[in-house]
Amino acid sequence: MSRYPKIPVLVYHKIAEPSDYDANPNTCVTPSNFENQMKLLTLLGYRTADPAEYLKARLGLPARLPEKPFLITFDDAFESAFTRALPILKKSGFSAVLFMVSSGFGRNAFWDGEDANSPNRLLKPDELKALKDEGWCIGSHGVRHKNFAQLDAPALAEEAAKSRTELELALGSEVSWFAYPYGAYTPAAKRALAEAGYKIGFATEDGDGEIFAVPRRIISGKSGFFNFALRLRQAGKKSIL
Ligand SMILES: [Zn+2]
Repeated sequence: MSRYPKIPVLVYHKIAEPSDYDANPNTCVTPSNFENQMKLLTLLGYRTADPAEYLKARLGLPARLPEKPFLITFDDAFESAFTRALPILKKSGFSAVLFMVSSGFGRNAFWDGEDANSPNRLLKPDELKALKDEGWCIGSHGVRHKNFAQLDAPALAEEAAKSRTELELALGSEVSWFAYPYGAYTPAAKRALAEAGYKIGFATEDGDGEIFAVPRRIISGKSGFFNFALRLRQAGKKSIL
C-alpha cells in the first residue's frame, strides 16, 4: 500500500438546530457547535487543504499542503452549507468540499422521506455556483441518493455518469469528486466511478483507503466537544492505512 499523508477528512450534513422535520436529528450539528469545532481546529493549527493539492498528495504527487491539513466535506448539499456553514468557515479562512445529489436542487431530503416543507432544503443551482465561486470543490453524491452497494452494474454506471453530467451542466465546470450515499460501496461501485471519469471517491468510516474509497469521519449532532477532538484524532490515523 502506498503511503500518503495523514489528512483527516470530516463529514457534515446539516448545520442547523434539529427539528421535528429531521428524519435523523443526528444529521444536524448546531451552528454554535460547528463554530466551536472550527475554532478548535484553528487553535490546533489545522488549515483546510486545497482540494486539487489534496488530490495530488493522495496520488503520491508533490503537493502544496499546509503544515496540518484537513478537509471538511458536506454530504447531500443542504442549504445550510451556504447559509450557516459558509460564513463560519470564512471567519477561519477555511473552504470545503460539497457533494450534491444531482436530482435534488431546491428539494428536501426525499430519500429519507423528509417533509417537503422541511426548512432544511437542498441547494438551488445559483447557491451551488456561489459556493464554487467561494472556492469550494463541488462533487457528486449520485443522482437519487441510492445505496451503491445495492445497485447492479448498469445502475451504477448511470448514477455515476448522469450525476456528473447534470452537475457539470449546472456548474459549467468539471466535476470529478464523488461521495457514496450512506458511505456504501463495493468493488463494482469503485470501478463505476473510475469508468465515469471521477478522480477520487469517498466512503465514511469503512473506507478501505484506496483512491475510490477514502475514509471519512462523520461529525454528528451527538458529537460533544471532547468527542469531536477524539474523532479528529482518529481521522488522522485512519488515513494512513
Ligand atoms: Zn447522503
